[in-house]
Amino acid sequence: MRYISTRGKAPALSFEDTMLTGLARDGGLYVPEEIPTLTPAQIAAMAGQSYEETAFSVMRPFIGDTFTDEEFRELIANAYGGFGHAARAPLVQLAPNHFLLELFHGPTLAFKDFAMQLIGQMFQKALGRKDARVTIVGATSGDTGSAAIEAFRGLDNVDVFILYPHGRVSDVQRRQMTTPAESNVHALAIDGDFDDCQARLKDMFNDFEFRDTVKLAGVNSINWGRVLAQVVYYFSSAVSLGAPEREISFTVPTGNFGDIFAGYIAKRMGLPIKDLVVATNQNDILDRCLKGQGYHKGMVEPSISPSMDIQVSSNFERALFDAYGRDGNAVAQLMDELGQGGFDISQGAMQVLQDIYSSGRATEEETNATIAQALKTSGELLCPHSAVGVKVAQEKREEATPMITLATAHPAKFPDAVEAASGIRPPLPPRMADLFDREERVTRVANDLDALKTHIKGALGL
Ligand SMILES: *Cc1c(COP(=O)(O)O)cnc(C)c1O
Repeated sequence: MRYISTRGKAPALSFEDTMLTGLARDGGLYVPEEIPTLTPAQIAAMAGQSYEETAFSVMRPFIGDTFTDEEFRELIANAYGGFGHAARAPLVQLAPNHFLLELFHGPTLAFKDFAMQLIGQMFQKALGRKDARVTIVGATSGDTGSAAIEAFRGLDNVDVFILYPHGRVSDVQRRQMTTPAESNVHALAIDGDFDDCQARLKDMFNDFEFRDTVKLAGVNSINWGRVLAQVVYYFSSAVSLGAPEREISFTVPTGNFGDIFAGYIAKRMGLPIKDLVVATNQNDILDRCLKGQGYHKGMVEPSISPSMDIQVSSNFERALFDAYGRDGNAVAQLMDELGQGGFDISQGAMQVLQDIYSSGRATEEETNATIAQALKTSGELLCPHSAVGVKVAQEKREEATPMITLATAHPAKFPDAVEAASGIRPPLPPRMADLFDREERVTRVANDLDALKTHIKGALGL
């Protein structure tokens, strides 16, 4: 199994190198050269299996000889052992033929734990046998940073530095980043906004001397290993509702397009997915694009579902690559145009995209109303991101096909918004109820490349 870049000019890599590299050297994203398929009998055999067993069957064809079967099973067991639910990704019913896939039982209460916990284990294994060490630096608006810290804390071969905008993440998000006591974890509060954090991160990757000195590595959402880990729960949930004999539809609260793209991979692997619905908040560039209006950047309008507040949806490049017949030059050209503000999509590519994905959006009022309505009609308390999904799913749902909406975060991660919409302040799960008693450890750093480089080198003793 080899991986190629969406821009066609970087070398093909093994799974291991793809995972450790992150972004391709031509600026593109790595995708599998060919997508392996599972037979209906292989999919049917997942019925009744543990999440871990299904994870092994789904991901094994993608990892080549990077890990032995025994190693890979152990990594998966370590990754999901700390989840707060025995099913890992349980399904609950919201309404007739409408189900909610709860992806928030991991250590930081958002679906990002599914990918990040496994990436942590895979990095540790791959680096450990080479006796290599890397420095992971990430920028976050909240969920990714806490998931990364939780995944890498205490691992021997990794230091992790997370940049977050000072004063602009929720108390729960901040405490999840600042309270781990392990010395390889470094939370950095930057005097700036999320865009500043991302810009400084990019500066660090472009400073080749620094990059080589600290052995910089990235785990943002374009890392193929993260997409792969997310393919699993499409299988586990669809099979529990009758796949492969029965078609299932999914609605996915979407920002960077990583989660929904994992659904597309599941479909290509042979899972009978009927509709794959992209749900956006008022930052609806993807909804507009999939309705044929081109891909044109606007300004981010902050919403109550902040993890979906995006202008540029990075993993969409992977969808475009397939829609353009895997023509790397065409994708590189589109990404150049994006630098000037946006691009239009050819008729042929649009047809391909619309055959795979449909879309909808939810306003802030609709999101609030959906939180209140779901509580009333099903007793489920939704986080604002999941509510965007539920609202769009209600519009797209058909009688004949079960609809699964992905619940991407626990309501307790966004208590203010949930309380405003429902009147109920969701408590943290008991296993993390002491979050507000734990001691915080954070360094405030200026929004300045040199200050950051000095701090990171100092912390590493370089
Ligand atoms: C990251 C995130 C999303 C968006 O997922 P993408 O893979 O970026 O599309 C949605 N909801 C929550 C809670 C998230 O943390």
